[in-house]
Amino acid sequence: MILSHITKDYRGTKALDDLSLTIEEGKITAVLGESGAGKTTLLSCIMGLIPYEGEIDGVNGKKPKRREGCSYLFQDAQLLPNLTAEENVRFVLPKTLWEQTGEMLDRVGLKGKEKSYPHELSGGEKQRVSIARAFLYPHKMLLMDEPFSSLDLALKRQLMELVRTLREEEGGTVLFVTHDVHEAAFLAQRALVLHRGKLIGEVDIDAPYPRDLLSPPKEARELVRLLLETGENK
Ligand code: ADP
Repeated sequence: MILSHITKDYRGTKALDDLSLTIEEGKITAVLGESGAGKTTLLSCIMGLIPYEGEIDGVNGKKPKRREGCSYLFQDAQLLPNLTAEENVRFVLPKTLWEQTGEMLDRVGLKGKEKSYPHELSGGEKQRVSIARAFLYPHKMLLMDEPFSSLDLALKRQLMELVRTLREEEGGTVLFVTHDVHEAAFLAQRALVLHRGKLIGEVDIDAPYPRDLLSPPKEARELVRLLLETGENK
């Protein structure tokens, strides 16, 4: 996906400032930046939720249309409270895929919880339901906005590994937004660093998987350096 000269102005606040970048197909890309850098705005432009100046894959953003072929994962699992785990997954799927729900819930570690309601599930289990749903929904690109931010460290590591292995098995492009260097270094093959709506760094992370949170890939230092620099220039 090619984004060229994307600018988003919220009545005087330039959330994205003439941003051009490429998101490589079949890879996991992190969009990294401090709070207010423009990360969520960038996802909203890609999703086609808000108008913007510039073009994505040659189509201008004046009258955006909701992008097809995308699946989503957010910080909050966004489950319907009156539906079971299984029903929450099926809710967004065509009927032809319903029979795969059980197997996918098993793969994300929820065997035996298919009939549980969200209030009967822990935070991590709820997020597993939403990971199962995001992967079963037919997509070419998975867009994730801070999906691991509210999880404790051990759970974060487990769910990042889950997303990584599911993507490896299922294919597709993953784009995820985070303010956390460790998440980017653990999961991404490429990190795009945003600051004040501009791209200030592109870092390829070639370390093999599975990665270790205790000894992050060497590229993490470059990401820390970029974030510290921008933090001091706020
Ligand atoms: P991030 O996701 O990196 O925290 P955002 O994309 O949410 O950043 O925000 C980027 C900038 O745009 C911030 O200065 C924010 O206050 C501003 N902004 C975001 N959404 C709106 C909005 N709906 N109206 C006005 N300003 C907004």
